Amino acid sequence: MSLKQYKKKRDFSKTKEPKGKTKKKDPKKRIFVIHSHFARNHHYDLRLEMNGVLASWVVPKDPPAEKGIKRLAVHVEDHPIEYAKFHGNIPKGNYGAGTVEIWDNGTYLLKNKSSNKIEFRLIGKKLNGDYVLIKTHYGSKPNKSWLWFKL
Ligand code: MN
Repeated sequence: MSLKQYKKKRDFSKTKEPKGKTKKKDPKKRIFVIHSHFARNHHYDLRLEMNGVLASWVVPKDPPAEKGIKRLAVHVEDHPIEYAKFHGNIPKGNYGAGTVEIWDNGTYLLKNKSSNKIEFRLIGKKLNGDYVLIKTHYGSKPNKSWLWFKL
């Protein structure tokens, strides 16, 4: 159900991106990945394992490695768990066409989650520490806009 939108946007006969299934349970150690995506506009994709899929946000600027940097993060469709390992090229003419690299990955602890705030600790190679995502009305997509920063 959750991956409906993801699948609708892609032709899996043309892209090597994973087709994916929803996993049943949330393990204790959840995974995260941050993709660097050289699409029409270069951006980062923050993906956090939640409810058997990767909850995903598009981050137009570089991820906040230090305190005091606030980044806009636009909530987008869930991606399958296997997408955490995906990197490579999405062919021209397909959704998100361009190169996808893994910028950082690791595990995270979910500390608190409500409908407008997610607190978590990232244990990655580049990003480490306590982070928060807070819903905001800033940006061009007010219903999907969050701010992402380090505590
Ligand atoms: Mn992307």
